[in-house]
Amino acid sequence: MTAMMKAAVFVEKGRIELADKPIPGVGPNDALVRITTTTICGTDVHILKGEYPVAKGLTVGHEPVGVIEKLGSAVQGYQEGQRVIAGAICPNFNSYAAQDGYPSQDGSYLVPRGLCGCHGYKATAGWRFGNLIDGTQAEYVLVPDAQANLAPIPDGLTDEQVLMCPDIMSTGFKGAENANIRLGDTVVVFAQGPIGLCATAGARLMGATMVIAVDGNDHRLGISKVMGADVTLNFRNCDVVSEVMKLTGGRGADSAIEALGTQATFEQALRVLKPGGTLSSLGVYSSDLTIPLSAFAAGLGDHRINTALCPGGKERMRRLMNVVASNRVDLGVLVTHTYKLDDIVAAYELFANQRDGVLKVAIKPN
Ligand SMILES: [Zn+2]
Repeated sequence: MTAMMKAAVFVEKGRIELADKPIPGVGPNDALVRITTTTICGTDVHILKGEYPVAKGLTVGHEPVGVIEKLGSAVQGYQEGQRVIAGAICPNFNSYAAQDGYPSQDGSYLVPRGLCGCHGYKATAGWRFGNLIDGTQAEYVLVPDAQANLAPIPDGLTDEQVLMCPDIMSTGFKGAENANIRLGDTVVVFAQGPIGLCATAGARLMGATMVIAVDGNDHRLGISKVMGADVTLNFRNCDVVSEVMKLTGGRGADSAIEALGTQATFEQALRVLKPGGTLSSLGVYSSDLTIPLSAFAAGLGDHRINTALCPGGKERMRRLMNVVASNRVDLGVLVTHTYKLDDIVAAYELFANQRDGVLKVAIKPN
């Protein structure tokens, strides 16, 4: 008889529900991880609402914290029973795209076996969990290319302390890294959801001395202060662009990080920049963007726009967990609620509607 497990699967638009699925078999390069804690991402809510298509019956979720249950025969240097995380993005790191410095855009594993991968460049194809393969909101998850993607959790760190590493922290910090921040910079971070809050923390860690957090929710702005914001602006009460100009003596910000994915925030992120400034974009956009001529000096302002998908891989995870272990930042404050996997529908309901001051929900299979 096949051993079964519980998993949260996409049924149809508006329905993510628990189902029984077989515990997957382990191929030579895989690792089977027993999930101890996972979470729900804003992206999963897009999947729930039918705004981002995935196959019916796919297990959702892409943020694994757990214990190695079984290792593939080719995976070396790990032990069964070891506590690990894996990045939300699990490239195989063999492709031209990965070796060119863009492992998150590594889609080489999609090329049929035996054929040349040619280049492996496929936008976002490093994202497999809960997108192209079964994800982490389950009792077990199969981690592909485990040798490259399994990252042991340092002793003494709790599940909650590392739960943000696979996606939210990696993405938010990448936003700061992509913003070309230098010591003494002024950085404006648009939107203070979990990823924006991590971008705020990352901007401060990278040496910005004035981090300006923007949101429409005073509760979230309060948390942004804890995460490292020097100034908070509620866009409902002020004109953000003119406030930033006032705060910088008319100079403009050195960089702006967009962490929402709307025309309004993208445009304001451009408008607060100094000439030569950098817009680091993290948001997932759901319609075309327009760039007003006046906001980027008709193309002559030496502005840079950088985009990114969450970096994955064991080295990235090791570094992020080092940041946590050294107490440079406490992301445990982002985990506001805990649910059993059995109650995943209620967890989605709370998270999707942003009730009760929720930031992130820890999901525990047992
Ligand atoms: Zn995510």
